[in-house]
Amino acid sequence: MDFLQPTSWREALELRAERPDAVPIAGGTDVMVDINFDRSRPGALMDLTRVAELREWSLDDGWVRLGAGVPYARIVDDLGAELPGLAMASRTVGSPQIRIRGTVGGNLGSASPAGDAHPPLLAAGAVVEVASAARGARRIPVAEFYTGVKRNALAEDELIAAVLIPSAAGPQQFCKIGTRNAMVIAVSAFACALHPDRRAVGTGIGSAAPTPRRAAEAETFLAGELESAALWESRGALPESLARAFGERVAAAASPIDDVRGSAAYRLHSLSVMARRAATWAWNDYRKAA
Ligand SMILES: Cc1cc2nc3c(=O)[nH]c(=O)nc-3n(C[C@H](O)[C@H](O)[C@H](O)COP(=O)(O)OP(=O)(O)OC[C@H]3O[C@@H](n4cnc5c(N)ncnc54)[C@H](O)[C@@H]3O)c2cc1C
Repeated sequence: MDFLQPTSWREALELRAERPDAVPIAGGTDVMVDINFDRSRPGALMDLTRVAELREWSLDDGWVRLGAGVPYARIVDDLGAELPGLAMASRTVGSPQIRIRGTVGGNLGSASPAGDAHPPLLAAGAVVEVASAARGARRIPVAEFYTGVKRNALAEDELIAAVLIPSAAGPQQFCKIGTRNAMVIAVSAFACALHPDRRAVGTGIGSAAPTPRRAAEAETFLAGELESAALWESRGALPESLARAFGERVAAAASPIDDVRGSAAYRLHSLSVMARRAATWAWNDYRKAA
């Protein structure tokens, strides 16, 4: 197995085009598991950790540009205020060792329906920037990035450069259910984001459909009810019946399966409970921020 180590973004893209058999590796917390279990035996590995651009984040005009190789631990340390939903999700990933190595770019590369970065990225309305040597960069709304179970919209000659995420204009929440409290793959997960600037609600469902997905109807429903009851202005309490109805709509947007981690019925139930709670917590934070 060849080991390629580009030291610049340009070189990484050129190698990607030259060696379609090379598997990119960032933190390696998915790639190495597959190699160790003999699920994959690539002709080459392309180590991205020496490409400095991928390891940086920046804030520009209300958007965070998060390099694909920024590890979870840095998101927790640096970006709790700008990206509270993603920072919350990052805190739940694996163990300290996994959070130091693992990256959001790797989560997107694996595109597992259970990946914890996906729900907050969906709820925030993130955009994935990918690039190839031949065609340059293109941007893909994250909801269109997931194309099937562990499949994504990357072409064979492309790499993920960064994720562009709007800096939070309102409260965000992330909830995850696992079979224990830590080091666990989600049985189901849910993220929501309030966008008071445009009076909108964002959602992301994890581990309860073939791909991570939004609950679009639930978003429109909750934003519409908040508008018609003038709650955005009054910041009155979120009625329990409204939070419950939102939770039911979130569950209705999922299409889970039974598997070793949980049954479809449990996933639907837990999603409705998490969505109700997450919306209530986020709304209470919005009220407190007045
Ligand atoms: C013990 C353990 C616990 C874990 N717990 C969790 C958890 O709680 N939640 C969770 O979501 N995940 C968990 N994971 C899975 C893993 O840590 C995450 O998916 C992580 O985000 C992968 O990031 P990485 O940088 O290590 O990716 P890598 O393993 O380096 O790569 C993963 C995939 O992405 C591709 N890739 C990486 N970077 C790029 C790029 N820039 N462009 C194109 N493709 C790229 C690789 O080719 C590969 O297909 C766990 C893994 C382990 C081993």
